[in-house]
Amino acid sequence: MQRIKKDDEVEVISGNDRGERGEVEDVIQPWYIDRKTKKRLYRDKNQDLVRVSGLNIRKKHKKKAGPNAQGEVVEIRAPIHISNVMLVCPTCNEATRVGFREVDNKKVRFCKYCNADID
Ligand SMILES: [Zn+2]
Repeated sequence: MQRIKKDDEVEVISGNDRGERGEVEDVIQPWYIDRKTKKRLYRDKNQDLVRVSGLNIRKKHKKKAGPNAQGEVVEIRAPIHISNVMLVCPTCNEATRVGFREVDNKKVRFCKYCNADID
């Protein structure tokens, strides 16, 4: 089960965007792939990346071909490593660590700060 999912609110805890909050738009889950068979071997959950709305914007300078053409600057949202964000608890509004427990035979996440179920 994922610690952080799409549409969660997260807070960045390191880097230039430290302290900023945003919504998770995308969780990128890298797989280890066997080079020969191209088969997926296993996934390392600790290597997940998240794309957060409005955060970690990088400017990329793009060159255009041709003598009179001008280059342009495109903004891209770079993914953030999962260890650099913390989930913001919807109940207590704190950036918190996430725990897992079973409620009615379903595994749910809970806030380790206020002990409320998250989903
Ligand atoms: Zn909480």
